[in-house]
Amino acid sequence: MQRIALLDQRLANQIAAGEVIERPASVVKELLENSIDAGSSRISVEVDVGGTKLIRIKDDGHGIHCDDLNLALARHATSKISELGDLAAIDSLGFRGEALASIASVSKLKLTSTTEGKEGWAAQVRGAEMAAVLSPTPHVKGTTVEVRDLFFNVPARRKFLRTERTEFLKVDEVVRKMSLSQTRVDFFLSHNGKQVRHYAGGEESQRVASILGQAFLENSITFSDERNGMILRGWIGLPTYSRSQADQQFFFVNDRIIKDRLVTHAIKQAYADVLYHGRSPVYCLFFSVNPVLVDVNVHPTKHEVRFRESRDVHDFIFRSIHRALADVRPDSQRRIEERDPFAKDVSGRVNDHPLTDEPNQSPMPFGFGSSWTGSRAKPSVLSKLFARDHYQSLPTILEDESSPPLGFAVAQLHGIYILAENTNGLVLVDMHAAHERITYEYLKSASDEEGIKMQPLLVPLAMNVSEAEAELVLTRSVELNSLGIELTKAGEESIIVRAVPTMLANSDIEALVRDVLSDFMEHGLTYRIEQQRDEMLSKMACHGSVRANRKLTLTEMNVLLRDMEETERGGQCNHGRPTWCELSLADLDSMFLRGR
Ligand code: ADP
Ligand code: MG
Repeated sequence: MQRIALLDQRLANQIAAGEVIERPASVVKELLENSIDAGSSRISVEVDVGGTKLIRIKDDGHGIHCDDLNLALARHATSKISELGDLAAIDSLGFRGEALASIASVSKLKLTSTTEGKEGWAAQVRGAEMAAVLSPTPHVKGTTVEVRDLFFNVPARRKFLRTERTEFLKVDEVVRKMSLSQTRVDFFLSHNGKQVRHYAGGEESQRVASILGQAFLENSITFSDERNGMILRGWIGLPTYSRSQADQQFFFVNDRIIKDRLVTHAIKQAYADVLYHGRSPVYCLFFSVNPVLVDVNVHPTKHEVRFRESRDVHDFIFRSIHRALADVRPDSQRRIEERDPFAKDVSGRVNDHPLTDEPNQSPMPFGFGSSWTGSRAKPSVLSKLFARDHYQSLPTILEDESSPPLGFAVAQLHGIYILAENTNGLVLVDMHAAHERITYEYLKSASDEEGIKMQPLLVPLAMNVSEAEAELVLTRSVELNSLGIELTKAGEESIIVRAVPTMLANSDIEALVRDVLSDFMEHGLTYRIEQQRDEMLSKMACHGSVRANRKLTLTEMNVLLRDMEETERGGQCNHGRPTWCELSLADLDSMFLRGR
């Protein structure tokens, strides 16, 4: 039998490092967090060979007192919390007191720091017990951490490292994310002695443009919403600016970037109505909440959080974004984006570094449709849309009205497009797509007014479920009823479905109930009924809408244009395609090389 012995310091730290330090990028993340916590306004990151040879991070923060240098390198040593109460309300990025110790145990680390008005000192760790050796070293105020030969003593980890380029891309990504949450800070990044990024401290929108691209700013909605002390603000991409991958989604909770299923789910739901299946929205969102209400001590990498009031958070995020997207409708400011090849590069790139060129990921080529108007209007003459040939009976729109955003119809093209003239130039409208959206929104608001009607099943349906789900039937009966579902518990693991929403009576009821229950289990709430209802209404709208090849009179076309301006989400059809686009006179001029 082996006897028990205490592990030496280095080994203990290496075990801890296993959880947090996976690759150079994780070192960079931890060190950047420290620099930010130290109140730095300028941070430079230098890496060699993807960070495997060298990572050097230098900041101008408050520094570390020379007597604390060896403590900084010890495990469970931190200046950020001191008692349990602090753990419950963390307002710094770090708090676990183990990053430096972990990194030092798997690399050759040198920590140099100077506090205000003091001399600089450097510390290096040696040996199995990781004793820090101190020496006076000149340094301006701030801290430099040098990490050489990462994993030199952990061959197993070294084997998992990828190519130099891949490792560097991951470092680059970390710097990008950090710089988004700290827009006042200057960030520099260089690779193999060559500076590749410089994000100058300044306006938040400027930083968002340099990380996500100027095109994103132009194709996004900026908003801010507040409820019960929670604040959500930032930029959400227009549905027409969606991507094939979920690779441009940034969500910060109290300035910490996180990945959270609840948040992702809420945002996805908010876009459900306007996004083509399989497309991913682009967003950069900042969520602030009292630190007491969010637990960041969930995982050593601090990538995850747990919200105390997770249902509230989910609901708030969903509703804010849903609302903001609903307000997307045509307005007059929108025009085709100018694609000046000599336009200033705002990507933060300082030279031709071919790192983040992403083919097949560019947004639609024009600044299509839909922009933020900030105002809301009730659907107007929508109800008439169902009356056949109602268009004929409507009055002509007076030409002396102040010019509406989508202007006035001048012709119809191939029975598919409406051509209209507005103050900027030419507007093209996809008749069917536009009408479909208008009809759909009308159907939704009509159904909202009526509420969800419940229909008892002639033959109640028995279902086997988990014990916890059967329990939900009792605890959530009121909410289930308000969704038009009536369930009773039949046994430990079985329930009976007695009534369902009238509108969904012909759908797969068992699947619907299972999904609803699993939503309640996972997220504490569900939008499933609304969603299925919307799907159905969307189908109805599609059938009820103007088909291509129908001849419309100018009056009819004008009515459609006015309705588009009034309709929530009027900028996209139900599948997230644009309903209209604009060619300004300048665009037309440049097409014909006029004025050159
Ligand atoms: P944590 O950040 O969780 O406290 P670390 O191991 O990352 O743990 O850092 C330990 C301590 O070292 C920090 O609490 C902080 O006091 C100090 N420290 C580390 N990096 C810096 C820095 N760049 N500037 C000032 N102090 C720092
Ligand atoms: Mg730290």
